[in-house]
Amino acid sequence: MATTQTLRAACIIGWPVEHSRSPLMHNHWIAKYGLNGIYRREPVTAEEFPRFIASLADRGYVGGNVTQPHKDMALRFSEPDDRARAVGVANTLWYEGGRLRSTNTDVEGFVGALDASAPGWDRGATQAVVIGAGGAARAVVYGFIERGIERIHVVNRTQDRAEALRTAFGPRVIPADWNALAGLLKTAHVIANATNLGMKGNPPLEIDLGPVRDEAVIAEVIYVPLKTPLLEQAQQRGLRTSDGLDMLLYQAGRGFEKWFGVRPEVTPELRAIMEKDILGK
Ligand code: NAP
Repeated sequence: MATTQTLRAACIIGWPVEHSRSPLMHNHWIAKYGLNGIYRREPVTAEEFPRFIASLADRGYVGGNVTQPHKDMALRFSEPDDRARAVGVANTLWYEGGRLRSTNTDVEGFVGALDASAPGWDRGATQAVVIGAGGAARAVVYGFIERGIERIHVVNRTQDRAEALRTAFGPRVIPADWNALAGLLKTAHVIANATNLGMKGNPPLEIDLGPVRDEAVIAEVIYVPLKTPLLEQAQQRGLRTSDGLDMLLYQAGRGFEKWFGVRPEVTPELRAIMEKDILGK
């Protein structure tokens, strides 16, 4: 489907940004929907970031994604929506009436992955355990609150950061000590790893899923490797899981729609392309 519309460009801004798989995903959708668009990587240092996003439109961009270490600056140097403000970091930028707006799409990414991989995961679920208290964990907690989970136990190496989530999101968030984790896992309906533990080059998240409920769902935010030691253990234990790659795929659609005007679909074909890239095949 050829089109005569003018070229629209979006980008991912980060430092480093070479590792990002967002261009593969967005350029796949651009080709699939026959759009005159392009999605590029923009390596930008923290010092350069404020000036870079202040001139995003002058650089030819209709918007973009923001990855580490700029997600908090993206929030401060744009007009965030309620979701980005609540989560405290932004990952998606677009223009609205000439104003640079931002949002956080990791929330719908996380929940969308769960809905796709473990349909009905929230039916009757009252208790969650979130391990981690950084940017991804904040999105996870927000998603659980939106879905009505009553008690969200947050366990983090640095306890102060878990306490900060209770301050941000209210009494449904219950900060807990790492030593309490084993006990909390036994009764949780859904358990999420939102740390860097298990990521390629990092030690694994060492928890024992042996005593968890048979119907518990295990969610992972990491997507390199595709199957973290946590997911491996969960699948061996026969538990339902949702992974970080689906989170990445499901978070991307809203930005794409804002920049290119088409709501893209997450398909098995796209997932296979991403998997192949991650596995280096
Ligand atoms: P972040 O803000 O830096 O938070 C990192 C978290 O990991 C903190 O809770 C930190 O604990 C914990 N942590 C790191 N090293 C640890 C260790 N050795 N032992 C115990 N805890 C440790 O990072 P983030 O933005 O939340 O990202 C976290 C992960 O989510 C990354 O792997 C990222 O790639 C992934 N992510 C995936 C998606 C997706 O679409 N799939 C989206 C966003 C993020 P402290 O507070 O104690 O330092």
